[in-house]
Amino acid sequence: MGTVLSTEKLTKRFGDLVAVDGIDLEVREGEVFGYLGPNGAGKTTTLRLLCALIAPTAGTATVAGYRLGRDDPKIRASVGILTEQPGLYERQSAWENLVFYATLYGLPGRAARDQTERYLRLMGLWERRREPVATFSRGMKQKMAIARAALHEPRVLFLDEPTTGLDPDAAKTVREFIVQLRGEGRTVFLCTHNLDEADRLCDRIAFFRRKIIRIAAPDEFRAELYGRATEIRVLPSPRPEDLVRVKAVPGVREAYFENGSIIVTAAEPLRTNPLLVRALIDGGAQIAYVTERKPHLEEVYLRIVEPIE
Ligand code: ATP
Repeated sequence: MGTVLSTEKLTKRFGDLVAVDGIDLEVREGEVFGYLGPNGAGKTTTLRLLCALIAPTAGTATVAGYRLGRDDPKIRASVGILTEQPGLYERQSAWENLVFYATLYGLPGRAARDQTERYLRLMGLWERRREPVATFSRGMKQKMAIARAALHEPRVLFLDEPTTGLDPDAAKTVREFIVQLRGEGRTVFLCTHNLDEADRLCDRIAFFRRKIIRIAAPDEFRAELYGRATEIRVLPSPRPEDLVRVKAVPGVREAYFENGSIIVTAAEPLRTNPLLVRALIDGGAQIAYVTERKPHLEEVYLRIVEPIE
């Protein structure tokens, strides 16, 4: 996969405040790249820099093959951005709004109408296309804003908190939309506070707070911090002798009780788990479930992001 976006020491200061501090990152074509950080970390500022909406104080970036500071209008034409301001014409219908923006993006009449239809359908707004946007709920407006950002098929789509404030149904539509774009080989740069969402959608995640703290796949973050754990639920509850047996199995690193289960970590669970199960059954234990236990990404996030200052 090629690189669609890269930065070199990209920096933005507002007076004395360093909002974005010399970041180096590469985003691959076709990936969903998560950008995760606490309030005020500088996520929105990064997005505005990468879309050539504000100028960096230092450093540079290449977006969709264009150089920031040299080809800014081309960058703006190659990206789509969803920000907090939806920028919709309230008195116009959904259809009129999107056709207007598609035309503004330079799509000729037929293509503008086709794209408008495609995105209204993807967002579940087709049936409401004739109604003025003023009558739409917040979630519907947000879906309109996403459609507007994606309408011209940008190489990179920047989404700033796309599901914040949406009900579960609307959030699901938006997530499915992101998955669909990724399936079409488009690149999505996703700023989010929602760890669960980042976990489910992103190929890689950058933990960010003024600087890039770490970039890795969600699984890598978890594996690195915890190793993989296996949870074995024993009925009615595990006995001390079960734990003794588990600890004696070759390859077991750690084993302990937690809420009626035995939690086991092993360097190679695929080899160790069958032996574990056999040892427990041989000891007369009644096994109800054996499940892989992934630490919640939130724990990883708090460990990585919070101590930095
Ligand atoms: P949130 O998750 O709360 O939206 P964020 O990670 O998007 O936060 P930014 O909006 O990029 O953070 O802001 C980063 C810092 O830069 C903040 O301290 C903010 O006050 C400051 N900042 C952003 N824009 C400006 C501006 N135009 N002038 C002065 N300071 C600014």
